[in-house]
Amino acid sequence: MPEGGTRRIIVAGAGVAGLTAALAFARQGFAVQLIERMDRFGEVGAGIQLSPNATRLLDRLGVLNSLLPAAVVPDSISLRSAYTMKPVGRFPLGKDAVARWNAPYVVAHRADLQSALVAAVRRNVDIQLMMGVSVRDVAFHSEGVTVSVDMPGGIEEVKGLMLIGADGVWSRLRKIMPGTQPERFSGSVAWRTAVRAETLTTGPFAGVFDRATVTAFLGKQAHLVSYPVRSGATLNLVAVTQGSQLAQSWANEVDITPLQTAFANWAPPLAALPREVGKWTAWPLFTADPKGNWIHPQGLALIGDAAHAMTPYAAQGAAMAIEDAFLLARLCSEFRGDMPAALHRYETLRRPRVQDVITRGTFNKFVWHASGPIAWARDLILRSRSEDGVASDLDWLYGFDADAID
Ligand SMILES: Cc1cc2nc3c(=O)[nH]c(=O)nc-3n(C[C@H](O)[C@H](O)[C@H](O)COP(=O)(O)OP(=O)(O)OC[C@H]3O[C@@H](n4cnc5c(N)ncnc54)[C@H](O)[C@@H]3O)c2cc1C
Repeated sequence: MPEGGTRRIIVAGAGVAGLTAALAFARQGFAVQLIERMDRFGEVGAGIQLSPNATRLLDRLGVLNSLLPAAVVPDSISLRSAYTMKPVGRFPLGKDAVARWNAPYVVAHRADLQSALVAAVRRNVDIQLMMGVSVRDVAFHSEGVTVSVDMPGGIEEVKGLMLIGADGVWSRLRKIMPGTQPERFSGSVAWRTAVRAETLTTGPFAGVFDRATVTAFLGKQAHLVSYPVRSGATLNLVAVTQGSQLAQSWANEVDITPLQTAFANWAPPLAALPREVGKWTAWPLFTADPKGNWIHPQGLALIGDAAHAMTPYAAQGAAMAIEDAFLLARLCSEFRGDMPAALHRYETLRRPRVQDVITRGTFNKFVWHASGPIAWARDLILRSRSEDGVASDLDWLYGFDADAID
């Protein structure tokens, strides 16, 4: 365990939030101790959509270029009826996204994003990564924080300037932060599988899935999203349905009856999908109340899902984690010597932005899962809108630069 600690930032958790925070703080001249509970990085989850508000920051951290060869820049987002498979709405991505929002919209496998982040962390001499040890507690004092870490041989203490809780939706550090609530099950379950692209673009599925597009099929109280990952060799499928609470793991192989039931009245190729392809896993969607405290002014900040885990209807949870990490690092650099001011500013600037994104996700859920007259009105409105009009609704979200606000 390294000595000293006056310039060291300790980060608990090496998910998207913690890895980005380590890189962002090192970029601002801090030494970083990154502590991860798992003893190795495994193949995690499924695909991830990275909108321009996130990719512009990954680019500045030197991560985007290493991710791009394994990722895909989709040509558009297309909304389709799950019953007729007919288009309902569309807006362009690809070059149009870069022209409009100054950064690409990218889709990737999570393991490829993780590899690109971890490689950048391992290259950085100012970051020390410790695996297989977990943060247990934190004590505050005049020089910063003393963090208790569960090591194989017992508990050790690490001293630093501050602790960042990037320990995910089931955050231990949120639990010890005063004024926070436990995470809550949202009532929805995400189902995922990844399938060879050929399997889904030929035979019974010919014409259903597009290898260049993010497609969302909208049904009653459920939707299915498909998009390419792994340089286009694989199609990632994610469905969200109503469901019950399951264990806390991506690797939850479960009875797919609820998925089959949710798709039962959909167009025949989609209705057949759960039993025809892949090995589906399930992920119960938990949220963290964003109104809880995200900071302790003496030196603790929660970022990413630890602060504000949200449902994935806006595909923005990781993007918000990246924005949090980037802004927090800049503020800690600007307010050097006044940690409470930096932390207050972080919370003040991030709260409205994160709340707007959560509100957008709630709206998307209402619109995407609608049925009857509401779904009919939705389709009518979306079909009447220009592609430019639909894209302009997202300027506030995708055009945002977390490094340009103060
Ligand atoms: C179905 C689904 C689809 C999604 N799609 C998108 C999308 O398209 N785009 C997008 O932007 N977001 C998406 N999200 C959201 C995104 O996945 C999350 O917001 C993001 O991964 C959160 O990252 P994190 O680093 O905060 O948490 P995590 O990824 O959970 O990382 C937390 C890390 O902390 C470690 N840890 C936990 N406790 C300790 C401890 N005590 N000490 C040390 N380490 C610890 C854990 O092992 C883990 O590695 C989606 C989410 C779901 C469920």
